[in-house]
Amino acid sequence: MEAWRARQRVIKTLEEKLSEEERREARQDHHARRPPRPCGITIHTGAGCPLACAYCYIYDMGFPGSAKPYKLSPLQLAYAVATNPHVAVGPWGTLVAVGSVTEPFLPQTRELALGYMKAIAAYLGNPLQVSTKMPPPPELAEVQEGLDVLISVTDLSGKLEPRAPPPLERLRAGAELIKRGVSATLFVRPIVPGITDRDLTRLLALAAELGYRRVVFGTLRVTKGIVARLRAFGVDVAPYVRELHERRQTPIRYPKEKFAAVARQMGFEVLPASCVANVVAHGQACALCGWGPCGDVKKLKVDVRDVEEYLETRGYKSVEVSVVEGLKIRINKRLKPIDKIFLEQATRLPVSEPAR
Ligand code: SF4
Ligand code: SF4
Repeated sequence: MEAWRARQRVIKTLEEKLSEEERREARQDHHARRPPRPCGITIHTGAGCPLACAYCYIYDMGFPGSAKPYKLSPLQLAYAVATNPHVAVGPWGTLVAVGSVTEPFLPQTRELALGYMKAIAAYLGNPLQVSTKMPPPPELAEVQEGLDVLISVTDLSGKLEPRAPPPLERLRAGAELIKRGVSATLFVRPIVPGITDRDLTRLLALAAELGYRRVVFGTLRVTKGIVARLRAFGVDVAPYVRELHERRQTPIRYPKEKFAAVARQMGFEVLPASCVANVVAHGQACALCGWGPCGDVKKLKVDVRDVEEYLETRGYKSVEVSVVEGLKIRINKRLKPIDKIFLEQATRLPVSEPAR
């Protein structure tokens, strides 16, 4: 399969550029092992964050209130992702999301985050997306055609994000990227009861005026600590929470649909999840989870013989593969999890195997 062949080529190219010690460090990294989810693989540009947003969950996960750039160089990071056996390499491969467990464009991680994105774009070509609560850097316009930038805000006041730049500054910087042909998506996350609803119409009107056309709404997930921190900001989410844990996050019960309805009325394309913005911005398609199919599904093409040959090289005998209604791959063998995940990532279709 092309995603498999592409991986071998990328690994060879990057191995020539990295020392043995650099390769060893990258191969041991979690980016080289972590299975992607249907919505893609996340890239860590650092760990920890000093912005202290009231609803942030990273502190309950044990991350500190200061940011440390991630240990890998851009080439090492690209190599780590390419060697991950679950990841499909290439422009139609695994979706890549930058911005997890930290803010990517903090002064101390900004250059590294851009370096990671440029290295992935140049060597792997996988569809990239980045999410930020900082004004996104203009250099993003040179990273990749189809790149999606999620401009993350909760409301226009920024009341719950006292150390982050004002939401208007983020939105304006995103609008500059839109003018340069980049896809910037309004990411209203998390929706905080009593905060986001207060000036939603004003936020959407301003975003529309600045050129935003797509929006994703994200549910607030809470722990005991987050509920307490929000209370200190005068926000009580207790009525929307059934259970609370120290570390495990629970999504609040606060329907997104009314927000989506307002946005649709105002002319926005409302996407059900951030990965959809990545797929749509790249003009692609995906049918990997129950929220889809997303994008133009006619573009999801599977060469059955190619899949059979790939599985035979992986040691499976007498494999029969068929595609059901263009949206699912059926296989007559049970696959090892690693092969199943890779195949799903490479085709963007769910794989169904015989029952045990
Ligand atoms: S910017 Fe992101 S990572 Fe940093 S505190 Fe806010 S939500 Fe958390
Ligand atoms: S089908 Fe849509 S929502 Fe599901 S993983 Fe793919 S892009 Fe995301």
